[in-house]
Amino acid sequence: MESKVHRPRVVIVTVPCPGHIIPSTQLAKYLLSMSIDVCCYSTGINYPTVENQLEEKFGDVRIRFRPLITNSEFVSPGKELTDNVSWMQGPSDGEMAVRLEEIVRNLTPPPVCIISDLLAGWSQDVADKFRIPRHVLYTMPASALLFSFACFPSLISPQVAPEHPPGTWNSMVVTTHAFYDYMMRNARRLQEASFILVNTFEDLEGRFLDLMRSEVIGKPNVQKILSIGPLIRSSNIEMVSAHSKPSAREEHESFAEVMHWLDAREQSSVLYVSFGSLLTVTETQIHELAHGLEICGRPFLWVYRVPNTPQILPADASTEDSLSEGLPPGFLERIQGRGKLIRGWAPQEKILAHKSVGAFMSHCGWNSSLEALWSGKPLVAWPLAVEQRLTARYFADMQLAVEVRKNDDSIVESAEVVQAISLLMEEREETGIHSKFDRMQELAHMAVDDGGSSRSNLQVLIDSIKNQPNPLT
Ligand code: UDP
Repeated sequence: MESKVHRPRVVIVTVPCPGHIIPSTQLAKYLLSMSIDVCCYSTGINYPTVENQLEEKFGDVRIRFRPLITNSEFVSPGKELTDNVSWMQGPSDGEMAVRLEEIVRNLTPPPVCIISDLLAGWSQDVADKFRIPRHVLYTMPASALLFSFACFPSLISPQVAPEHPPGTWNSMVVTTHAFYDYMMRNARRLQEASFILVNTFEDLEGRFLDLMRSEVIGKPNVQKILSIGPLIRSSNIEMVSAHSKPSAREEHESFAEVMHWLDAREQSSVLYVSFGSLLTVTETQIHELAHGLEICGRPFLWVYRVPNTPQILPADASTEDSLSEGLPPGFLERIQGRGKLIRGWAPQEKILAHKSVGAFMSHCGWNSSLEALWSGKPLVAWPLAVEQRLTARYFADMQLAVEVRKNDDSIVESAEVVQAISLLMEEREETGIHSKFDRMQELAHMAVDDGGSSRSNLQVLIDSIKNQPNPLT
């Protein structure tokens, strides 16, 4: 009798933030394109942004991260989540593990491995229980991974960790005890993973990757740390083009207006401003930025988030607050015709790909940084938290960005905003940034092209999945 051949199946688990869901979705699409089935789950609270807006399709398959715990089970009426950790991690690691275990036990065919986020360290226990490998999808830069290892002096000497700009370490330790504990608890489990798949590429972060491969104590790491990026929507569209479709949100008609606005601007004239999907800045800072944008005289497109909104809420396009909330009085009138604000979710990769956009003022979230590189839009680096400081400094050192300076009150003043924009957009030749950036853009594309380092590393992952014994065959 002919045995039934099943496609290998993989379970992917991540945390409910766009910066983690988006690269996980791209990996899911890539696996599907290689005839590997995927089942996708997320921890913690699922906001509409994550559940609906980030859904993508591969052929007829909808890729959507189903919550391991439903919102109503997690947050009872009247019970507010006050800290900045529980909405991401769920009620407890143990509870998440029990739920995933239940799913894995009932999947037919069962998964041959679990690929999970750094912040789902508990999934190692589930993998161990079923005797399957857990691979980590590391959605931050390799510099941050090295930094995580360096937190454990028994794994790597702190001397070999990247030099971190002032504030990086403090911002990690000081944030809240719960957050620090969350990061450390999960970082500790990195060593047990089979592969650590880092969303980066050798030509960008080879020095950190090589350091980890040679210096991290423990399991042999040479084949363990695989760079597989840039794993972003645009790069993936190239890799799996035949079946890739934009997410429902990217097709949304309200985005057409933004595109028309960009169409009407001169080539490379527009500064795109966005600080990612989670973080907001103070009202004082908003005013300085607004003032700087106003006096710099350039066209700009600003994805605006009201100051001091709770950091844990991803941008939600359904917010109906008036657009001017938190802005200097009269700002919108004064910038009419030259500046445009978007509230909520913006089609970032489409914006970055537009020929009118000349530069990107960014918080240096890792996905945004990779997207900037991919589309060749140099950065005004304005880091807000944790590993963004490592990225901003590294990009500035590599002459891929102009980093803004903060004053003693941690505010970027309007004069600094103007100077950084002018350095990047007017003194193009003098800074040398554009030629460096063009070259890095080329290398990013080569990495995921046939024969490129990231594409080869993805093949190592695919081979390992396909060679993993499937319990039903
Ligand atoms: N993003 C987007 N539209 C927005 C805000 C964010 O498409 O209005 C996407 C962005 O392109 C990136 C991700 O959300 O892929 C944000 O990840 P990143 O690591 O840059 O920053 P985070 O939001 O995690 O701070």
